[in-house]
Amino acid sequence: MSEEKSLPGTYLRERDLQSLPGIVEHRPDVKYLYSAGQAQSMFLRGLKDGRILGVRCMRCGRVYVPPRSYCEYCFAPTGDWVELSGEGEVHTAVVSYISTFRERLEKPEIVAVVKLYAPGYTNKDDEYEFAGMFHKLCGVGEDDVINGRVIGMRVKPRWRPPEERIGSVTDIECFEPVQS
Ligand SMILES: [Zn+2]
Repeated sequence: MSEEKSLPGTYLRERDLQSLPGIVEHRPDVKYLYSAGQAQSMFLRGLKDGRILGVRCMRCGRVYVPPRSYCEYCFAPTGDWVELSGEGEVHTAVVSYISTFRERLEKPEIVAVVKLYAPGYTNKDDEYEFAGMFHKLCGVGEDDVINGRVIGMRVKPRWRPPEERIGSVTDIECFEPVQS
């Protein structure tokens, strides 16, 4: 891919990063083994089965996806597992010409925060508290983002075929519009 080709947006290049003051480069030669923990493991196994699982706070009823062991708002331990339909609405979205691996993209990705519909919980009081997922959107174009048409759009997960799932958020290929 040519570095000089003009694409919209602002690119991150290696030299841009190097020129920032105060940057300390640290490249440890190690491999990580990450233990997901009990709640996270259950969540990841759920994804492999094509299910989105969350936990509910026993005190305020908030639903956490991914699950947390305690509620951030009332510091009470979370309790029951709940299965979400996976459907939700787009809370915010951006057009990105940089991949999650910091590569420049010819064709941009649309990434969004999806506000998932959590069973039994409606947070009318505070718009910013919801079970949400940060993921790619497909089936919509850049114009839909720029014109604000995606905001509030009803979406659902597009799952990868079962044999391709590995127990990761990438088991969901993207979120796509629900056809009404
Ligand atoms: Zn709570």
